[in-house]
Amino acid sequence: MARVSRPPVAAILAAGSELLLLGRADTNSPYIAGHLQRHGIAVAFTSVVTDEHDDLVAALRHALSRADLVVCTGGLGPTDDDRTRDVVAEVLGLTLHEDAAVVTAIRERFGRRGLTMPEINRRQAMVPAGGVVVPNTRGTAPGLWIRTGDQAVLLLPGPPREMMPMLEEALRAHVAPRFGGGVAVQRSVVLAGRSESWVDEKAQPIYGPWRDEPVPITTTILASLGSVELHLSAYGPDGGAIAARLDAAQAALVEVFGDDVVNTDGTSLEASVGGMLRTRGWTIAAAESCTGGLLTTRLTDVPGSSAYLDRSVVSYSNASKEALLGVPPALLQAHGAVSEPVAAAMADGLRARSGVTVTVAVTGIAGPDGGTPEKPVGLVCFAVSGPAGTEARTSRFTGDRAIIRALAATTALDLVRRYVRRSAA
Ligand code: AMP
Ligand code: MG
Repeated sequence: MARVSRPPVAAILAAGSELLLLGRADTNSPYIAGHLQRHGIAVAFTSVVTDEHDDLVAALRHALSRADLVVCTGGLGPTDDDRTRDVVAEVLGLTLHEDAAVVTAIRERFGRRGLTMPEINRRQAMVPAGGVVVPNTRGTAPGLWIRTGDQAVLLLPGPPREMMPMLEEALRAHVAPRFGGGVAVQRSVVLAGRSESWVDEKAQPIYGPWRDEPVPITTTILASLGSVELHLSAYGPDGGAIAARLDAAQAALVEVFGDDVVNTDGTSLEASVGGMLRTRGWTIAAAESCTGGLLTTRLTDVPGSSAYLDRSVVSYSNASKEALLGVPPALLQAHGAVSEPVAAAMADGLRARSGVTVTVAVTGIAGPDGGTPEKPVGLVCFAVSGPAGTEARTSRFTGDRAIIRALAATTALDLVRRYVRRSAA
């Protein structure tokens, strides 16, 4: 009886010296990992390994020491340096025999192109004892499905366009019937405006105990520029019960993080902001200095954003802040362009001129030059102006120019989100 409280574990082996020596990207492993996970199979690790016999043997032994299922890709070609098939047979102690049907299929494939099959292609028809052929409709190298005790090994060729449909077929015909059974369910909570460690410290006491429940919940915390994602997953035979448990767990996190929660459906911050504006029938305009349009790019990355985005002004010089946004020269004189009063005046001025519901303004020092002791590189002032008044705030970011600008755009979006959120839908 399969252990239902833990998902079957897979390891992926990408064989190909070119992946290590020539810098060719291993795109097959993440593709395979995604498909396995959707079938409720956990992926413990991926190894990228040369076509050398000893390396392949070591990597395969390691994979078999841990995984229920090992998926290999690459090294099934007809030439001497394609060794995966031989190594798998050797490690599993299986003899190889030539499969007449496979030879015929390869011969016919060459025949359709008016060619005679080179003798070396017979190597591709070698099947380990007990192995089942996974047909390849787009190339000569067939795949193989090999059961060994409680474990199984799936061999797929390297070229992605051949591998992909074969993986699909192998999952349906072999992997799911053997390792399916359970269901993997995922939930996420996306947060903004907090650091990863702040979020983790607050979340640990809540999700720590979930690991010891009868159906354990696995949690992952992921930080990207300006946002933090919490991912929850659980696996078991009863998908409905797991979904209900995860919904409750997700709700507990939403409760604790309150205003910091951007969404629970994994969509982007800009899509969430767009959705909130759309729901309320609000329009928005942006005044961007140091982000140079990045904020507006993010807003317009969302399809249908023309429903709420009215305009944006990229304003760098003081003259343009006066002419396009109506910032009083005296204010610029008194506080400097990077200041909360100027950010607020940019937001208010744009709101008065555009007539939108809400505006957001960003002004800061992205660096690497232009910093002073009082106003260092990374200092960014924001303001949001709308029906509930004008709010300004200042952040200090660290990082290079690109990072500071990206963080400024994310923070501006998050301030809009918080502002709109506080206004009833
Ligand atoms: P193979 O003959 O099965 O070893 O694979 C031949 C070709 O497939 C290689 O030259 C690569 O272009 C491609 N390939 C092999 N492995 C991978 C991989 N892990 N990810 C992406 N492409 C691959
Ligand atoms: Mg290869």
